[in-house]
Amino acid sequence: MSEDYDALWQACLETLETLVSRQSLKTWFDPLRPVAFEETEGARVLVVQVPSAFYREWINDHYRPRLHEAIDRVLGATGSIRFEINRDLRSDEEFTGEIPEIPRGAIGVPPGISNPFVIPGVKSSEIDSRLNPNYTFERFIEGDCNRLARSAALAIAQNPGGTNYNPFLVYGGVGLGKTHLMQAIGNHLKAKHPDQNVLYVSSERFTSEFVQSIQHNRASEFGQFYRQIDLLIIDDIQFFGGKEKTQEEFFHIFNALHQSGKQIVLSSDRLPREITGIEERLLSRFQWGLTADMQVPELETRTAILNRKADDDGISIDPMVIDFIAENVKTNIRELEGALIRLLAHSTLTGREIDVPMAKSVLADLIKDTRQQLTIESIQRTVCDYFDLPVSLLGAKTRKREVVRARQVAMYLCKQYTQHSLKSIGLNFGGRDHSTVIHAQQSVENQMDTDSAFRRVVQDLQSQIEKRTR
Ligand code: ADP
Ligand code: MG
Repeated sequence: MSEDYDALWQACLETLETLVSRQSLKTWFDPLRPVAFEETEGARVLVVQVPSAFYREWINDHYRPRLHEAIDRVLGATGSIRFEINRDLRSDEEFTGEIPEIPRGAIGVPPGISNPFVIPGVKSSEIDSRLNPNYTFERFIEGDCNRLARSAALAIAQNPGGTNYNPFLVYGGVGLGKTHLMQAIGNHLKAKHPDQNVLYVSSERFTSEFVQSIQHNRASEFGQFYRQIDLLIIDDIQFFGGKEKTQEEFFHIFNALHQSGKQIVLSSDRLPREITGIEERLLSRFQWGLTADMQVPELETRTAILNRKADDDGISIDPMVIDFIAENVKTNIRELEGALIRLLAHSTLTGREIDVPMAKSVLADLIKDTRQQLTIESIQRTVCDYFDLPVSLLGAKTRKREVVRARQVAMYLCKQYTQHSLKSIGLNFGGRDHSTVIHAQQSVENQMDTDSAFRRVVQDLQSQIEKRTR
C-alpha cells in the first residue's frame, strides 16, 4: 500500500491541473518528487521532495489552499503532505533540513471543522490559533510607513487588554503588512504565554462559520467559543460591510471580550468610516481604542526589507540588484517579496547568478505594472470597455440611462481606487460638481444593496481593476 506514493502524487497533480495554470504546474510542481507515503494511526502523509526552501515557501504562499484541496480529494480528510528538501534536486543555496508539515486550518485554507465550537467536547486548550509562525516582530521591518502601528502592536503584545489600544485597528492598502503585524502580536503572546487563547480569523471566515453555525443550530456555541478567546484578531473587517447579522454577533462578542479585559485586534483596507454598511454602534466601539495606518514603504525601508528577506533565506545578493528592485517595485511589500522570490526561483532553475540584467528581464512585467498606477482615465477606460461605450460620453451632457449608470459606476470606482478628491473626480467627468459624485456614490451603493446582478457587475469591474494593479 505505502509504495503507492508515485500514483498518489500523480493523482494530486491531476487534481492540481484543474486548479492551477499549466505554467504554474510546470514551474512549481513538476520538479517535485514523491518519496514516501506514511500511514500511522489514521494519519496519511505523503512525503514529497522539493529542490529548495524557496519552492516550499512559494508553494506554501501561493498554492496552499489548492494543494490542500488536491490532498483532500486524493487522500481524504486525514491526509497531509510533508516537504523535504533534497540537495540533488536543487542547485545552490544553504538552507537545509526537513520542513514541517503545512498546518491544516492555517490561513488561506478554506474553512473546515477546525474550530472546537463545531466539535462538541473539545477542550478550549486545543484552540488552534491559526497563526503563521513566520509572522513575527523579529521579521517585521520598521520604517516611517509603519512605525506607529508597530510600536502600538508591540505594546499590546506585551500587555494585551492592558493598554489603551483596545480595540487596536490597523488599516492600509493591500500588501503593506497588516496581517503580518497582527499575527506578530499573536505569536508573541503565544510564545510567552502558551496557555492564552489566541485566535486569528479573517472576517470572511468568521462570517462563513457564523452562517454555518446558524444553519446547524449552533449559533450559541459559536458565541461561546469566541468568548473564551484572550486575544481575538480579525483580519480585513471591510468584508463585514453590509452583513448585518454577522455584525450583530461580532458586536456582542466584542462587548463581552472588551468588558472582561480581553484584547481585540482588527484590520481593514480603509478607514472604518469609509466602509459602507458598518453599523454606527460598531464604528463608535472602534474609537474606544487606537486606529493606526500603514503606508507604502519608503525606499530605505524597501531596501531594508529586501536585505532582510535575502538574509533570512541565507542568500547573498548583489547590492546593485537589491537597489534595482527597491527602486522599481514600489507599490507594496508583498510585491517586493514576490520579486525577490521570482529572481531566486529563476536562478535556481537556470543555475545563473542573479544580476541586474537578469532582474530587468525577469521582473519586466512587474515593473511595468507598478508604473501603471490607477488613474481616473484608466478607470474610465475599464468601465467604458465593460459597458461598451465611448469614454467621451462620460463627460458629455447626455442623461441616457446606460450612460448615467456607467458614469456613476466609474465615479464610484474612482473614489474607491484613487486618492482624488470628490471635486477633482467631478471635474474629470465633464466638469461636474462634487455633489454629483456624492450622489453617484450613494446611488451605486443603494443599487448594490438591492440589485444582485448590478452588484456582480460592480464586483467584476473591481476585480478587473485590482488585477491591473497587482
Ligand atoms: P496585508 O495584510 O497588509 O495585505 P501582509 O501582512 O500579508 O499584508 O504582508 C505582505 C507580505 O509582506 C508578507 O509576506 C509580509 O511578511 C511582508 N511584510 C509586510 N510588511 C513587512 C515588514 N514591515 N517587514 C518585513 N516583511 C513585511
Ligand atoms: Mg492581509
